[in-house]
Parts: sequence; C-alpha cells; structure tokens
Amino acid sequence: DPAAILARQRERESSARTYARTLPIVPVRAGGATVVGADGRSYLDCLSGAGTLALGHNHPDVVQAITAALSRGAPLHTLDLATPEKDAFTEELRACLPPGLGSDVKLHFCGPSGADAVEAAIKLAQTATGNQTMLAFTGGYHGMTAGALAVTGNVAVKNPLPATASVVRLPFPYPYRCPFGVGSPAGRAAGPDGAELSIRYIERLLDDPLGGVTDPAGLIVEVVQGEGGVVAAPDGWLRAIREITRRRGIPFILDEVQTGVGRTGRFWAAQHSGITPDILVMSKAIGGGLPMAVIAYRAELDVWTPGAHTGTFRGNQLAMVAGRATLRRVRQDGLDERAARLGSRLLAGLEDLARDRPYVGNVRGRGLMLGAELVDPTIEADAVGAHPADPRLAALVRAECLRRGLIIELGGRHGAVIRLLPPLIIGEEESERALAILADAADAAVR
Ligand code: PMP
Repeated sequence: DPAAILARQRERESSARTYARTLPIVPVRAGGATVVGADGRSYLDCLSGAGTLALGHNHPDVVQAITAALSRGAPLHTLDLATPEKDAFTEELRACLPPGLGSDVKLHFCGPSGADAVEAAIKLAQTATGNQTMLAFTGGYHGMTAGALAVTGNVAVKNPLPATASVVRLPFPYPYRCPFGVGSPAGRAAGPDGAELSIRYIERLLDDPLGGVTDPAGLIVEVVQGEGGVVAAPDGWLRAIREITRRRGIPFILDEVQTGVGRTGRFWAAQHSGITPDILVMSKAIGGGLPMAVIAYRAELDVWTPGAHTGTFRGNQLAMVAGRATLRRVRQDGLDERAARLGSRLLAGLEDLARDRPYVGNVRGRGLMLGAELVDPTIEADAVGAHPADPRLAALVRAECLRRGLIIELGGRHGAVIRLLPPLIIGEEESERALAILADAADAAVR
C-alpha cells in the first residue's frame, strides 16, 4: 500500500529530510527520464537523483555492466586494492579529465559522497600549504560534513552554528541580484554582475595584513552554483580568480560534483572558460548512479604520507563499473554537446514562459542545468530591477508540477528558484512536455 509506505517512512525519517516531505511519491520502477510510482502513475524526472543519473534510470549500458560484473563474480568491495574494474574505470576517467591537470595527474578515491571528496580536497590543500583558512563563496554548496559545511554559503538553514573550520567567504557574482547592492557608488562601479568589484575585493583581502587572508590554504568554487540557485560564474571572472590563485600559489579547487560529466554542455563546466583547477572534485554522475567520489589533482600536490586520508568505502566496485559505462556513453554519444543543444532550446522555452509571466523574474542556466527565479511582482523592485523572491509560489509550482507528473527541484537563496536537472538523455518530446507542464503548473499556482 503506497500510502502506508509513504506515511511510515515520513514518520520515521528525521525532519531534516526534504525530499521525503515535499515529494509525496513512492517510486517503484524507472527507466530513462521516467519514474513510475507505486500508484501506477508515471512522472517525468527532471531531478534525476540530484543530477546523478546522466544516462537516466536503468540505462542498458549501466544495467548490462553491473549484471555482467555480478555474474562473473567480481568482488563487491576491495578497499583500495587494484582490480580490473578499477583499472578500467581509471583509464576511462583519465581520458575524460581536463588535459591541463597533466599526464601525471593523481586520483584519490574518496567516498561515497560528494562531501567526502570536498573534505579530501580541503585537507589536501591544507596539507600542501601548511595553512588553515579556506576561501569559499557566498551562495556556494559543497556538502554536509563538517569541512564541506564550513565552506557552504547557505548559513541560515544548513549551517546555523559557527563553522568548525576556518573559512572566509567571498562574494560570488550574481547577475540578477548584484551582491554589492548597486544602489551604492561601489555597486554602480561593479558593472552589471558585480564581477569586477568581486575581483578587486578578493585581491584587497589577500593583500591586507590587518585582518585580511594573507595565508589561505586554498580556494573552492563551483562554476555554476546549483543548490545556490543555478548561478553561473562569468567566464572572465573565473579566469581572473584562476589567475589570482596561480600568481599567489593558492590551490584552486573546483567543485564539479554537480556540473561535471556533460551537465552544463561541456564535459567539465570549467571548459567554458578554459581554466584548469589544481584539484578537481567529482562525484554524482561519475558513479553512474552508484555512490562514488574522486578528486583529481596535479602531481606536485601529492604531499600526503601513507595512511593520511583513508576510509572503508572508497572505490566501490559496482560504482566503478556503472561509472565507466556512463563516462563511455557520454563521450561516445557526445552527450555533453547534446546537453548544450537541448539546454539552449529549453532555456529559450523558459524565456518564452517568462515573457508574459511577471512572477518569473529571471531564467538562466547552462546546458541541462536550468533555473527560473520566481518573484513577487506586486512588491516594488530593488535598484537592479529585481522583485523580491517568492519561495511560497515556488513551492506551490513544484507541487502543481508533481500533480501533473513532473518532478522538479527548488534552490537558491530563498528557495525560490525552480531547478531543472533532467538526465542528459531526456528526449526532445519529453523536454517540450516538461516545459508545457511547468507553464501549466505555474499558471495554476498563481491562480
Ligand atoms: N558539491 C556540489 C556542487 C553539490 O551540488 C553537492 C550535492 N548537491 C555536493 C558537493 C555534496 O555532494 P553529496 O550530497 O553527495 O555529499
């Protein structure tokens, strides 16, 4: 009885769990971009395991690879021993890595979650520099373990207590709502997205011995903030940050947990601006739907002593197998380019949708990582022309979408950004359908 399962699990789950509360469905089967609930209803899945399922649910390549590994009796878990499965995955992953990391690039299997890889990256940067303080960004999201939480910008809900690690947060450019308050003279000088002022601010901070951060351990940033509301860093800004860190010898950590594996229309989102990190953080789609997290870094950063960073679940065998199948398919079929093509059509569709709906304040995104920020147009706009965010409406839209068979996610500073993270294999007809449902649901929600 689906209703009983739902009620039981809701009651037993902690109140911190969000999906369990906001998506009242009991998935029992899934394929491609479709999830079927225990009630027999089909849902179009534009969340895809929080961006994990690049190939959608139960892609034949992934199913075949996992069943083959099980039937040949491959060991299920082997810590960090060398196995043929790990060898094959590593070969495939190396072929996908940005060449700028060097042919002697090192891999460190963490696991099982994205946050674990962030922890490893922070610790590696701290070990390499002998410094403590991390530089991170407003609106950033890196996970829920202590270090990852400390560099996460969502302090109101996720991080209400003082951070356990030393972190200084820097302003991330947010074109729709300039973080500097463009009403002020400094804000007006910041340009349309505050990017230039952000760079000057960071340089000043790193230079000032009186309370600045003259000895940072590393800098961590997302190319497109996902949980932060689908906010893409301007390419020029990213290049400037890369240059500052290079000049000053600050390890540059790029968190591509959500943006990696074709999501934004390039295999890595960093390719849009042509930058290469010192440490690349990967998870979600690289495990093909199974838990996997890896960092890749320049060989000269490999300063760890044996035993310095270990763990039981690093490099799960089935995740290697599913991950390899996924990476291969994304590369062979050019699913990153497909994401770029389909994504720009979806973005155009969202722009159309926003045109005669004043409560859709801003639509944005890259590839198949898309967002629409909902606002209250009855309240006066600020100096940048943005109305206040409307999280209540966003929650209503999500519920109306679900009623019409579409699963979406919310994010952003106020939870007012509708996010679409469909699998990269979503069909053209399916993506049109998602847009139509979204429009319909939005109209129903404002009524
Ligand atoms: N970094 C980014 C950019 C993410 O989007 C996420 C998860 N949404 C994480 C890190 C943390 O990953 P996990 O939830 O697997 O710990």
